[in-house]
Amino acid sequence: MTAPHCVLVVDDEKQNRELLTELLHDECRVILAKNGFQALERASEQQPDLILLDVLMPDMNGFEVIQRLKNDDRTRHIPVIFVSALDSPSDEERGLDLGAVDYIAKPFHPPIVRKRVRNHLLSVHHRRLLENLAMIDSLTEIANRRRYDTQLESEWRRCARSGSPLSLMIIDVDHFKAYNDNFGHAAGDQILRSIALTMSGQVGRPGDLVARYGGEEFAVLLPLTERHAARLMAEELRGRIEDLHIPHPHSPVAPVVTVSIGGMTLVPKGGQVLPELFDGADAALYVAKREGRNRVVWQEN
Ligand code: GH3
Ligand code: MG
Ligand code: MG
Repeated sequence: MTAPHCVLVVDDEKQNRELLTELLHDECRVILAKNGFQALERASEQQPDLILLDVLMPDMNGFEVIQRLKNDDRTRHIPVIFVSALDSPSDEERGLDLGAVDYIAKPFHPPIVRKRVRNHLLSVHHRRLLENLAMIDSLTEIANRRRYDTQLESEWRRCARSGSPLSLMIIDVDHFKAYNDNFGHAAGDQILRSIALTMSGQVGRPGDLVARYGGEEFAVLLPLTERHAARLMAEELRGRIEDLHIPHPHSPVAPVVTVSIGGMTLVPKGGQVLPELFDGADAALYVAKREGRNRVVWQEN
C-alpha cells in the first residue's frame, strides 16, 4: 500500500527522459521507454501508476500509443499525461479526447510538471483507497463478495497459466438462526466477527483470501494449494472455531458455535472462471450439513 508510486516516462529523446527522471525521482519510481512499442510492453508488465507520454515519436506516435493502451484491459485504467511539443489547442483537445488526464506543452516548466504529477498521483492514491474500501465488508472488516469475485478471477487465471490447483472452501455457521433467535441479531453479528477474525488469523499466504461471501457464509480461496493441504486447512479452521467455545445451548450439534465446511480443488482451464468450483464446494457443504454438521466435506472431481 505504501510502496512508492511508479511513473512510466515515454520519450524518444534521451535528454527528455533524463530531464523528467531528474525531475520526478524524489516523488516516485521512474521507469523509461524510448518508443511506443516499449511503452506498451512496460505498461502492461510493470503496471505503472501514471504514464507521461510524448506525442512526436518515430514509428508509433503518442496518440497511437494511448489508443492501444485504452484498448487493452491490462492498461486502460492507467492515467496518461501527454508531454508534447505540439502545443496547439486542437492537439491538446485531441489528446484529452483520446483519454489523457492532462496535457503539458513542451518546453515545460519543471516545477509545474512535478506538481501536476504529484496531483495525479494523489488522485491515484485516493482512487485506490476508495476501491479498497468498496471491497471490505463493513461488519467483519474482511474482504467482501466483490473482492472475492475479483480475486477469484485473477487467481483462476494465474493457476490456469501455471497448471496449478486452486482450492475453495465455503464455511457456513451451524444453526445460526437459532443463535440469533435466542441471543439477538447483535450477538449473532459478534459471532460473525469472531469467526472472520479467527479465520483471517490462520490463512495468510500471498494470494489466499478469506471473504464474507454473504449472510453467515464465508469463502476461503487457496491458490496453488492441492486438495490434501486445503482440506487440512479446512479441518484446522473448523477446529479453531469450535475451540473458541462460544456457548450455543440451542444447537443440536454441539454446546458451542460450530461451522460446516464444503470444499473443492481443481486445476483451472482457460481464462474464464467456471461455476464448477463454487458449485462443487457448495454441494460438499450441503453434504456436510446433511451428515450432521460441524465437519468438512471435500467434493470429488
Ligand atoms: P444451518 O446449520 O443449516 O446452516 O442452519 P442455519 O440456521 O444457520 O441456517 P439458515 O439459513 O436457516 O439461517 C441462517 C441465519 O443466518 C438466518 C439469518 O438471520 C442469519 N444471518 C444472515 N446474515 C446475518 C447477519 O449479518 N447477522 C446476523 N446476526 N445474522 C445473520
Ligand atoms: Mg447459510
Ligand atoms: Mg448456517
